[in-house]
Amino acid sequence: MFILNKKQLGKFDLSKAKQFVDYWGKPYSFGSVKDYNTGKVIDYIEELNLGNRLSEQNIKRMLRWKDRRRLTEEILSGPNKGKDNIKVLKVLKEQKSINRFRQGDIRVEEFKITTEKIFPNGFVWQIFLFHIARPFEFPIADRNVFRAFSIHKNTMIPKDGIYILFEKEEFAHSTNRIVRIGTHTGNNKLRSRLKEHFVNENKDRSIFRKNIGRALLNKDKDPFLKQWEIDLTTKKAKELHSNSIDLTKQKEIEKRVTKYIRDNFSFVVFQIDNKDKRLELESKIISAVSLCDECKPSPNWLGLSSPN
Ligand SMILES: [Zn+2]
Repeated sequence: MFILNKKQLGKFDLSKAKQFVDYWGKPYSFGSVKDYNTGKVIDYIEELNLGNRLSEQNIKRMLRWKDRRRLTEEILSGPNKGKDNIKVLKVLKEQKSINRFRQGDIRVEEFKITTEKIFPNGFVWQIFLFHIARPFEFPIADRNVFRAFSIHKNTMIPKDGIYILFEKEEFAHSTNRIVRIGTHTGNNKLRSRLKEHFVNENKDRSIFRKNIGRALLNKDKDPFLKQWEIDLTTKKAKELHSNSIDLTKQKEIEKRVTKYIRDNFSFVVFQIDNKDKRLELESKIISAVSLCDECKPSPNWLGLSSPN
């Protein structure tokens, strides 16, 4: 019996990716996508219309090619069958911007805002608009690309374990200084714990975020610090404070915290399945680091601006 071993999979040599695709591409068949009106097979390379502007027809065909079911110019099924597809119309309305971006007249940041307006919920489709405009710079990407990559590079984040954070400009023992150690109690919760720190903008679910916000506000001598301290997790607290808290400001600080984290932190994780082992090791690492004379913050470390 063959048993797949993820460790062996991780040894995959990425320089052999072409060989892999050539080999498996033969038995792997996929139907061609045809133009909605003419029934002619859509030639992806031809529709990219390299060196020219993208026509309305190029865009329509490529959207259909990308997602036949949801991005065809007409709705294919359901109560709205036969009606114009609003998603496609929204893209066509920005045909000019897409071509201006292709020509380099619009910056990436600006085009990003346009794509977010067109597809507010679809990151993958946003990237696809980048791709059709400038295919050599922006490859098609979806979660499966990243999944495959992380499996082959063996960099999947384990389901249970300990994480260790490093911060830019903080050094010890001639390498990065450990600025935070953490773990989780619930089973299979390492990834969601990391998300609470790095992705979800809710300071009351992450003491790490809360502390960074505290330090940033305190450094600015911003009186909003007082409101930042209030825990809004419970319904009762929300009702009690919703009128007195400046929620726009709170969102703005959450965004600043996220940006600070993205710009300054990196982390490593290691897998430990057993909860008691995790907690034991976490506290041992914390005490080892805190007792070490060399693992001290630099004078400019943001953590030193924390009010408590
Ligand atoms: Zn040390």
